[in-house]
Amino acid sequence: MPEDFPVESAATDSMSTSAPQCSWSPQSWTKMPRVAQAVEYSDPMALYEVCNTIASLPPLVSPAKIEIARSYFAAAAQGRAFIMQGGDCAESFKDVCPHIIHQKVKLLQEQSRMLAQCLNLPVITVGRIAGQYAKPRSNPWEVLPNGTKVHAFRGHNVNGPSLDERHPDPHRLLLGYFHSRATLDLMKEGQLPATPPTPGPSTPGIDEMLSGNTVEPFDGPQGAIFTSHEALHLPFESAVTHGRYNTSASFVWIGERTRQLNGAHVEYVRGLRNPIGVKIGPTMDGPTLVNLLDTLCPNPGNDDNIGRITIITRLGADNVEKVLPSLILAVKETRHRPVWMCDPCHGNTQNTTCGVKTRHVDRILQELIRTWQTQCDNGSILGGLHLEQTGEFVTECLDGTKQGSSEQGLALNYRSLCDPRLSYFQACSVVNSFVDFVSK
Ligand code: PEP
Ligand code: MN
Repeated sequence: MPEDFPVESAATDSMSTSAPQCSWSPQSWTKMPRVAQAVEYSDPMALYEVCNTIASLPPLVSPAKIEIARSYFAAAAQGRAFIMQGGDCAESFKDVCPHIIHQKVKLLQEQSRMLAQCLNLPVITVGRIAGQYAKPRSNPWEVLPNGTKVHAFRGHNVNGPSLDERHPDPHRLLLGYFHSRATLDLMKEGQLPATPPTPGPSTPGIDEMLSGNTVEPFDGPQGAIFTSHEALHLPFESAVTHGRYNTSASFVWIGERTRQLNGAHVEYVRGLRNPIGVKIGPTMDGPTLVNLLDTLCPNPGNDDNIGRITIITRLGADNVEKVLPSLILAVKETRHRPVWMCDPCHGNTQNTTCGVKTRHVDRILQELIRTWQTQCDNGSILGGLHLEQTGEFVTECLDGTKQGSSEQGLALNYRSLCDPRLSYFQACSVVNSFVDFVSK
């Protein structure tokens, strides 16, 4: 089932209803008239109890680390750093094992190293990892060939991919919390030190990092990679929110399907201290984007809000030059100073003749290069890259090499639970070709 198009619940860009004015709390989203992509549970009391349990568990990410992430994102908004974000479309509980997690970490570190060297900037490494367990779907139901209707797979936090586990089970949210915890532990042990560990209790701050002549990637305090996921499942996200911190990740974003101005997801993320992202597709226009930014960040002139919002464009390679300039210009006329990040994957998804979802590495690279160029041409800065990828040797995207060239070749090792991911080599080659282009 295509996750990308068409999107029945996509944000309606003509919508310009006024920003929500109520006071914010981690639960204020429940007052909004519409919760896009909400999961209907047959036992709401069980959901309530599970969320109470999750709320009583320790943070996965500390508020201190979230504040550090926020300051690093501010640097990216100003062109003083670059963000490398990548990971699975949908993480699997079953992939929480040393080899798979270590490979993902190794890949991210390799990409950050290449970018840091080429851009001569510190690179902020962000995994789409340790909590990417809920997926938006264009249709919450799937009709089987025999006509039976089953729940669509919505991510391991909600249900399982096989047909006998499709009923949404709230207890999976608790499993999600512990799989995130285990992933964080595996990430720590899998990490190569990017810089020699500094003795003593002090953690280098952004200014220290940025003022030195270092071109090493930096990975946050104690060398940890920042984690991120889509803030989709609001009962879970609000359960892990303490004060204004979503303590399940450093960075959370809302998707193309949940960014309605008067929707619950915008209401939820607008109150967070975490840096927040919003994905935007090719139907976005300048005035709507500015409305969205105003709603998410009512005080754009405040220096504390630099880089608080990351606009993640996922336009499709052929739409970049048509759509992006007017968005950049509209934002430049305001006082907002967001990070502009490019997701060159989601606008370039296609189905093979056999109905297998795939992406061409060339199209991904084209969108990235055009986005970089268009940002430069319009006096703006590309501050980050967002890729769907895995450290394994999967065959989910096409790349013109022997193994990846034929559509039949996709069957060799197609393991994604959702969208097609770049393999280790494909993901490195996208970054490598991008840095080649930028260096010229
Ligand atoms: C995703 O990031 O997997 C996703 C669903 O993206 P988008 O909201 O941009 O379609
Ligand atoms: Mn995806």
